[in-house]
Order: sequence, then C-alpha cells, then structure tokens
Amino acid sequence: MNIILLGPPGAGKGTQAHKLVDERGMVQLSTGDMLRAARTSGTDMGKRVAEVMDRGDLVTDEIVIGLIRERLTDGTQGGGYIFDGFPRTLAQADALSDLMAELGQTLDAVIEMRVDDTALVARITARSTCGDCGEVYNDISKPIPADGKCANCGGTDFKRRADDNEESLKTRLLAYYKQTSPLVGYYHAKGMLNSVNGLGDIDAVAGAIASVLDNA
Ligand code: AMP
Repeated sequence: MNIILLGPPGAGKGTQAHKLVDERGMVQLSTGDMLRAARTSGTDMGKRVAEVMDRGDLVTDEIVIGLIRERLTDGTQGGGYIFDGFPRTLAQADALSDLMAELGQTLDAVIEMRVDDTALVARITARSTCGDCGEVYNDISKPIPADGKCANCGGTDFKRRADDNEESLKTRLLAYYKQTSPLVGYYHAKGMLNSVNGLGDIDAVAGAIASVLDNA
C-alpha cells in the first residue's frame, strides 16, 4: 500500500511516518530529509538548495521529482511507500502519478492532516530531531528522554532545523497555502482524499490514520 501524508509544516507528517515505518514496515520517502542529506554531504545540488530551504521557499519541481524517481527506481524497495512532504505542487502530483503508473504501482490513499496555524507555530518552534535516525521530539509534547538518548536509536546528537524559526515558517506556510493546498481539491476530485484531525496527541492521530489505512 502506497500513501501520501499531506499537510502544512508541523502537522506531524514525519512523526506519523516514523510510526508507520515501525509498526507496518512501510518505507518513508521524505523529500525534506533527502534534501537535508544532500546539504550535509555537500553535493552541488545540496549547495544550490540550501538558501531556498532556509528561507522556507520550495525547491524546484525538477529537483524533487528527480530525487523521488531515483528512490523509486533504484530497485531496493518494492513498495509500501509513505510520501512525506511530496508532492507539494500540482506538477509534482502529476509526475508522481505518471511514475507510479510506469512502475505498475498504485497510490492507495492520501491522508490530509489538519492542524490550525497557531498550533503549527508552537509545534515547530519547540521541535528537535535525532541527528542519527530522524526521530522527532517536541519540548512540550514529546521531550527528549531524561537520559539524553534517542528512544528510537540511542543517538545523542539532537538538532534543531535551520528553517524552524518564525520567519521561515511564515514563508513555508504561505508556500503551503499557495502551492500545496490545491492538492487537497485535486485528490478529493480523484476520490482519494481522507482527512484526519492532526491536533490530537500522537497516538490519537495514529489511530485515525490506521483506520483510514485499514479501510482503504
Ligand atoms: P520538510 O522537511 O518537508 O518540511 O521540507 C523542508 C524544505 O525542503 C521545504 O521548506 C522546501 O524548501 C524543501 N522541500 C521539501 N520537499 C519539497 C517538495 N516536495 N517540493 C519542493 N520543496 C521541497
């Protein structure tokens, strides 16, 4: 089963994707993580996108579609994909449906995570991630364990994202409403949209997602 998690920055897509990986053995494909990895390893592409990402704007469709194509066609995974943070534009959505058709795969559900903007600011400014496995923590709702070790992998290197500040968040939210939110209508028209309340605690949201997947 292949699904898309759709929602604004801070909606909890990464957190829920990690749970689906742990609990259902699915494969998370996060274009944000791929782009951050390209920056860390200092590739030409990583250098080109750094400024755009820090500002909170979207990188070009060509780059992210290329990254997804590479991962889908490298032959290492058979499916069970969670698209997290992709697609973010209509062009990306069309490219994804072409790619899936080319690979003989189907897109089974699109899950929109609804969260209001005030909650997003609070979540994002309190967010940190494990530098080793990407597990997401939040100072208030899911603090780093008292022993200072990641509960998932035992790592001790926690990072705050350069774009998790109020200024970039404004740009990221604007990009979401202008470029990504039309996908809600797009997938609704295709009969694939399922919306869940992303405001509950992590397990409540996971439960809502599980019932969508179990009924898809
Ligand atoms: P994320 O980790 O999903 O919040 O993504 C972090 C940043 O990476 C975004 O603010 C964009 O600059 C860039 N990015 C990630 N995914 C995409 C995408 N599908 N299309 C364009 N830019 C993206």
